[in-house]
Amino acid sequence: MNIILLGPPGAGKGTQAGKLVDARNMVQLSTGDMLRAAKTSGTDMGKKVAAIMDAGELVTDEIVIGLIEEKLDGEAGGGFIFDGFPRTLAQADALGELLERKGATLDAVIELQVNDDVLVERIVGRARDAVAAGGTARADDNEESLKVRLMEYYKKTSPLIGYYYAKGDLKAVDGLASMDDVASSIAAVLDA
Ligand code: AMP
Repeated sequence: MNIILLGPPGAGKGTQAGKLVDARNMVQLSTGDMLRAAKTSGTDMGKKVAAIMDAGELVTDEIVIGLIEEKLDGEAGGGFIFDGFPRTLAQADALGELLERKGATLDAVIELQVNDDVLVERIVGRARDAVAAGGTARADDNEESLKVRLMEYYKKTSPLIGYYYAKGDLKAVDGLASMDDVASSIAAVLDA
C-alpha cells in the first residue's frame, strides 16, 4: 500500500508518517528529511538547496523527483509513505509515472486538514521545544520563512487536493484532532 500524506507545513505529516512506520512497517519517504541530510553532509546538491530551503521556498522539481526515484528502487516494506512529496502538479505527474513504471499503485492520498493559526502555533512550538531540549530549531522554523512556506503551499501544493480528488484518491482527515485520533482516522482510511 503506497500513500501520500498531504497538508501544509505543521499539519502533522512527519508525526503521522512515523506512526505508520512503527505500526505497519511502512517506509517513510520525506523529501524534506532527504534534503536536510544533503544540506548537513554538504554535498553539492545540499549546498545548492540550502538557501532556498532556509527561505522557505520549494527546491526544483528535478531535484526532488530524482531523490524519490532513487528511493523507489529500495526496500518497500509495507509500502511507501510519501511525506512532503509531491508538492507541485509536475511532481504529482512524475510520481504517477514512476509508480506505473514499477507496476505499483497509489492507494490513497490523505489530506490532513488544519487551519493556519494552528500551523503557526505548532511550528513556533516546535522551534521552542527543539531549543529547550538543547538542540537547534530548523532553520526554516521562523516566522518569516513560515510565511513563505505557507504561500508556497497555497500557490503550488494545494492544487493537488483538486488533482487527487478528481482521480478519486483523496481522503480528508481532521488534522486538528489529537495525535492519536488523527492516527486512528488514518488507520480507518487504510483499512477501509
Ligand atoms: P519539509 O520538511 O517537508 O517541511 O520540507 C522542508 C523544505 O524542503 C521545504 O520548505 C522545501 O524547501 C524543501 N522541500 C521538501 N520537499 C520538497 C518538495 N517535494 N518539493 C520542493 N521542495 C521541497
